[in-house]
Amino acid sequence: MFRRFLEKYKLPSFRLKQIYEQYYKSNISSWDELTTWSKDLREKLIREIPFYKLTNFTDYPSKDKRTIKTLSYTTDGYPVESVMMKNKKRITVCISCMSGCPVRCKFCATGQMGKNRNLDVQEIVDQVLYFKRKLGDKNITNIVFMGMGEPMLNLDNVLGAIKVFTNKDMLGFGHRRITVSTVGYIKQLEEFLKKDTGVKLAISLHAPTQELRMKLMPTVAKANKLDDLMKVLIRYQMSKGKRVTYEYILLKDINDDVEHAKELAKLLKNQIALVNIINFNRSENLPFEPSSRKRVDAFRNILDSREINNTLRYSYGKDINAACGQLANQ
Ligand code: SF4
Repeated sequence: MFRRFLEKYKLPSFRLKQIYEQYYKSNISSWDELTTWSKDLREKLIREIPFYKLTNFTDYPSKDKRTIKTLSYTTDGYPVESVMMKNKKRITVCISCMSGCPVRCKFCATGQMGKNRNLDVQEIVDQVLYFKRKLGDKNITNIVFMGMGEPMLNLDNVLGAIKVFTNKDMLGFGHRRITVSTVGYIKQLEEFLKKDTGVKLAISLHAPTQELRMKLMPTVAKANKLDDLMKVLIRYQMSKGKRVTYEYILLKDINDDVEHAKELAKLLKNQIALVNIINFNRSENLPFEPSSRKRVDAFRNILDSREINNTLRYSYGKDINAACGQLANQ
């Protein structure tokens, strides 16, 4: 968008560097603060390029202040939710690539909304810029595409946003600081992997068998069989030597039995894999319960005994509906 502006007014290329520097790096809060440009040029910018494409940002901090859920809106009125999570080592921003989601996974609050629309590159990047400017001197360390929407179904815009995040003249994030999470649309995933973006890959697995995935995630599972998905992921691990993270939400009495853990271990045997276990976060209108501590431990013990790397992820922001699978404009 800035290039087009430069071309329109026949501005020299150093102007691009100046705007990138201040817009992406210096945490200015409006075009008026773009001090390297003349007032006349700034006025043209104000008229032609919105400083943020998303509007009406509202923050919902958690009680422990470690998490902020932010609700914003597209200019045509659709809600977008993003989350910033802090711990001692990291500041992670979880972003959305859609307003809502068409995939309708049974355990996911966003899925129950249905899809409003895809976000464009700037709308995706705006979510990171908002938190970056809010943090001031502190830096975001990680970006995860785990908010509203399925990245493989908005691939061009997700790839465009990754370019902005990783371009050294723009936001300059290291590639391995960014994670794209997908439920596994195979054709688009192959296209994504071919681009070799260098970002980390997470697969929302949530079930160790095709049969159970059909129950929990029928929209994606029907046309994207688990066996075929695994073939693509194993090929990727072997050719790149890169680890794949598998997200697994534990739902009481649905997918949290030791037999499920055994199936999961069988599925991931010999893979360069990490299983990220997340206990379900209760959400209004969803008929699921979290696993008991005992079942979580038993599940993990099976994975440990079969040497499957796994972690139990702490879910931030439960009190503000900002935890995994809870983003739904509430
Ligand atoms: Fe969409 Fe992901 Fe939720 Fe499934 S889990 S409905 S793909 S946002």
